[in-house]
Amino acid sequence: MLTSQTATMFAAFLAQAFGAAALAAVLQGFHRHYRRDYLRQWTLSWCALAVHFLALAVSIPLATEYASTHPLRIVTAATGLAAGYLQVGWLLFGTYTVATGRGVRRRQMVWILAGLAAVAGLALVTTQDPFVQFGLRGLVAGLAFVVAGVLVRPPHDRPNRLGRGLVATGFLAYGAQLLHYFGLALVPLFGAPLPSYASYLGFADLLLQAVIGLGMVIWLLEEERREQVQSAEQVEFLSYHDPLTGLPNRQRFFDRLAGALEQADRTGHKVAVIFLDLDRFREVNDCYGYSLGDQVMRVVAGRLRRTAGDGDTVARRGGDEFSILLPALDDDATAVDVAGKLLAAMRLPLVVHDREFIITSSFGVAVYPHDGGDPETLVRRADLALYRAKAMGRDTLQFYAPGMETGSPERMDLERDLRRALAQREIRLHYQPLVDLKTLRVTGVEALVRWHHPKKGLLLPAEFLPLAEAIGMMSTLEMWILREACRQTRAWQKDGLRDFRVSVNLSSRPFQRPELVGWVQDTLTDTGLSPESLELEITERTAMQDVEASQQVLKNLKDHGVRVAIDDFGTGYSSLSYLRTFPIDTLKIDQVFVRDLAADPRLAKTVIALAHSLGLKVVAEGVETERQRSVLTEDDCDEAQGFLFSRPVPAAACGKFLNVEFSSTPV
Ligand code: C2E
Ligand code: CA
Ligand code: CA
Repeated sequence: MLTSQTATMFAAFLAQAFGAAALAAVLQGFHRHYRRDYLRQWTLSWCALAVHFLALAVSIPLATEYASTHPLRIVTAATGLAAGYLQVGWLLFGTYTVATGRGVRRRQMVWILAGLAAVAGLALVTTQDPFVQFGLRGLVAGLAFVVAGVLVRPPHDRPNRLGRGLVATGFLAYGAQLLHYFGLALVPLFGAPLPSYASYLGFADLLLQAVIGLGMVIWLLEEERREQVQSAEQVEFLSYHDPLTGLPNRQRFFDRLAGALEQADRTGHKVAVIFLDLDRFREVNDCYGYSLGDQVMRVVAGRLRRTAGDGDTVARRGGDEFSILLPALDDDATAVDVAGKLLAAMRLPLVVHDREFIITSSFGVAVYPHDGGDPETLVRRADLALYRAKAMGRDTLQFYAPGMETGSPERMDLERDLRRALAQREIRLHYQPLVDLKTLRVTGVEALVRWHHPKKGLLLPAEFLPLAEAIGMMSTLEMWILREACRQTRAWQKDGLRDFRVSVNLSSRPFQRPELVGWVQDTLTDTGLSPESLELEITERTAMQDVEASQQVLKNLKDHGVRVAIDDFGTGYSSLSYLRTFPIDTLKIDQVFVRDLAADPRLAKTVIALAHSLGLKVVAEGVETERQRSVLTEDDCDEAQGFLFSRPVPAAACGKFLNVEFSSTPV
């Protein structure tokens, strides 16, 4: 027969077992969602606690029926004790993982758990008295909970951590309670009777467990919220910063320039726009590789930042171009002074990875108000001045002068050549495969334009597209490119490549032409290519230039079945919240992210997850290494493009990769 005291204890143990099991179930639910190691360890810890209490509860009626040597009682006691000690181990692993952000190594875990099991075994063989066993376990678990409580205390500098605070308090109080049990276990050793409240203590434990459980739930929700805010901030940061150097980007520079002009209007100050371009930077990239090129870019950014004044804005325009805004100048002389200092600073050798580089730069300067009254004009004229500085042999500084608009002789030669080039078939397309990361099959190609110049050799797009843009040839050029790419793709499809796509780049000028949709439609009809086989790539900058007009054009293209990709994501506005309003299909993550994968894998992962949440397919550009490929595959990126698979090659050379599966070794 159970006495009323043992009956109360039985009920309390049973209630605690259910309480612990419920908390374990909640933690397991969170673990399934968040996939955190510490959640798994805590789940195990509370499962063990449930088993521990269940065994304790069961042992009470068993004690009235059987002798202490009965196998049933021994098994129950052993199970309860083992679970009670293992619970301590998992509690500490989980807490250590949360508190330090580092996990416990598997080997160490095994050793610690084995040690705890040994202690449990020792307790079992040294004493038959369940009360003493219970008390001893109270000592070990109590100390563990106190340590855990201290470990999870929220850091002082981060207030508003209700959940974590509750968990810490709950752990400490529960630890104190367990130590109290140890104290109680000592009482009979001195021949004193147990205080009568002892059998009710289990209900207080239940309350503490409820506090811990509630604290954990609130904590996890707070964490979730904090992570959401963090990724929103990250995306917000990307909207206005260049990911490589952390400097403000082109858009922010432009905004600041507009602000500075308004201010200057009121104060009568002058404003200078300085553009800077590294001389022969491409050679650094070509000779030493992109990662060193990136390093150099960061060092240059730091040097410019230090040389410029506190109130000045140093921004990266993209590629190897930077811009500096000097607001509120008293006179032109100050602009000359600062630009001269920057020029001198850039001449000093740069040291990257113990290598010394001398990289000079060219500067172009335009000053408000006499060189232009609005941001666009100032930017264009600073660019012209820069162009002239380069034409003058680089490593020099040019202020804008009205004569510059007409252009240099060198540029006029090139312009004449370019006009002829299309007719002479010097403009050709190269193709680079896009590879499905899951199946490693080629799903399509991107068409990239090249100019086989009779004297200068093979020219890359960066070397002649700006010129084509400047002389108003872009639309003609791109319509030719579009037609040629569609024709070639249709030919490949006829050769048996089904579901094969081509991506064609579209710059902002043609994109804004009202005839665009008609052109695209005619091209598709003439070449026989189906609209879903064509994807047009536009950069964010192009899409954002006139948001409403872009939305309309994209909608028209979409209505015709043509796919649209946002190119170079991460180098411009990078505002996914904005892109949400565009009917697009694909997001192409820029090479800078891919190159930074090893250093900061979270960024690409965040972008991929966000893009997927908007229903977009994600293509990573510039994949050069096997490691980048595997990280991207892990991050659930859909497709990749890059030298790892193939460089851009002429159509005739595409046979190598078409219709074949990539064994993920470079072709
Ligand atoms: P994009 O659209 O981002 O094209 C990808 C560029 O990355 C290509 O340079 C390609 O050769 C390069 N690339 C591909 N894989 C890798 C890699 O693994 N590592 C590295 N470092 N680079 C890789 P490309 O051909 O010089 O083109 C440069 C840019 O010129 C293009 O960037 C695009 O914005 C523009 N462009 C090229 N063809 C056309 C065109 O037909 N029309 C227009 N509007 N723009 C074009
Ligand atoms: Ca592209
Ligand atoms: Ca791109």
